[in-house]
Amino acid sequence: MGSNHEVSVRLLQLSKEQGLEVKDDRFAKYLDSTIKWSLRDQFHIPTISEMLGDDVADKGLDGSKQCVYMYGNGLGLQPVDTQRLVNEELYKWKTKGMLAHFTGEQPWFTIEDLVIKESGALVGSHDPTLEVAIMNGVTANLHLGMVAFYRPTTTRHKILIECDAFPTQHYVAESQIKLHGYNPADSLVVVSPRKDEYTLRTEDILAKINQEGDSIALVLFSGVQYLTGQFFDIAAITETAHSKGCCVGIDLAHAIGNVELHLTDWGVDFAGWCNYKYMNGGPGSIGGFFLHKKYAEEFALPRLAGWWSHKRETRLEMNNKMELQPGAAGFQLSNPPVLETVSLLASLNVFKQTSITELRRKSVLLTGYLELLLNSLFQSKVAVSNCNGTNTQPATVEIITPSDPEQRGCQLSLKLSCPVEEINQKLYQKGVICSTRRPNIMRIAPTPLYNTFTDVLTFVQELEQAIMLVEPPKFDDNLKK
Ligand SMILES: *Cc1c(COP(=O)(O)O)cnc(C)c1O
Repeated sequence: MGSNHEVSVRLLQLSKEQGLEVKDDRFAKYLDSTIKWSLRDQFHIPTISEMLGDDVADKGLDGSKQCVYMYGNGLGLQPVDTQRLVNEELYKWKTKGMLAHFTGEQPWFTIEDLVIKESGALVGSHDPTLEVAIMNGVTANLHLGMVAFYRPTTTRHKILIECDAFPTQHYVAESQIKLHGYNPADSLVVVSPRKDEYTLRTEDILAKINQEGDSIALVLFSGVQYLTGQFFDIAAITETAHSKGCCVGIDLAHAIGNVELHLTDWGVDFAGWCNYKYMNGGPGSIGGFFLHKKYAEEFALPRLAGWWSHKRETRLEMNNKMELQPGAAGFQLSNPPVLETVSLLASLNVFKQTSITELRRKSVLLTGYLELLLNSLFQSKVAVSNCNGTNTQPATVEIITPSDPEQRGCQLSLKLSCPVEEINQKLYQKGVICSTRRPNIMRIAPTPLYNTFTDVLTFVQELEQAIMLVEPPKFDDNLKK
């Protein structure tokens, strides 16, 4: 609460100094001008006609204007350099064929070396060559980590996940439980928010681990929750879990590139992530895997192996005598997809020009501005009066993400009293691109690499417009009397 308040106070103070209201376009422009290191230029920001088609002028829109893209939590935008880097590899393939595996400046045989160091920096790895592998998708990587760290016994067989975890976390946990001959009804434990709350209290998560820890084999949590945007206290969760003898695996899909992570310091056993959300690596892009360095030489850890788990130096001797590569790389299965690897590289090259600390500093302001605008527009009683201008029932927009910036990344999740799909369609028709989750959640992600304060303001203005245009929800009928 406190630090959020500080952000709002700072923004309000700035607006006062400028003699402008926070919702004045000129104030948003002023804020944009104060961020000198914006990396927006290094991304393709689609224009409205690119996004919606060339006939947008008929609908009174300026098609040459850039979209307001608030969907970086689903698929990050394309870095300007991606196409060139991918084309270079296509050209190598075209002109060198198989020879490109072992010749040239960056042979494909070692292509993953290009993306390990910077990926490691983003997850807070002290030793990326040992701790990080770029491979598969996040789901596969969670499974591979669980082969090593979910070793259920009759007394310790449970997996703890958070309520409303992403479906993949549920399915991964359930299928692993079944694979080992246990029953999810007994072995899958969920920690839920308190009544009338949306997010989890750290104390409740820790209490659950303390209560049931003796029978929990693995705590499988997300870093940042995809639905509520809550950033969990991974350090505290890991410490408590370890004190009870449980292993810890983290799904970082919504955390990497979004918040500061310190996996080595936190002692997390393993983690998996995807690189297409805040990482901008491209649709379905190759994922990431972290294995804490304390296991780097533990070659007896159970694992599913492939020829790429074998030490690089002797991998091609093909003698069928496994000599494992130390660390995370010893969990690789296949030779890496080159096009996806360089597509990720293009984005990492942008991240390299700043730091996650610096990005977070902007992110806290950007999201703080979104919060301030939403609160001033929708949570005062003179808010948007209703859903179509005739109803007396005020539309409500409730922020369910924690208000403390330390407990969230860039995303704010909004719970609307109006039908979100209709609202979202209206926004889309204006070139404002957002994510919704049924029945009534919008997930708004101003990403500090390419979104602006002006984007945030435009989003809020358009949301206000959209809500006024939408028919009142049917379930409000009885309230109208
Ligand atoms: C997006 C997301 C995934 C996606 O899984 P893939 O294996 O990359 O398809 C997994 N977990 C979480 C928490 C996500 O948000």
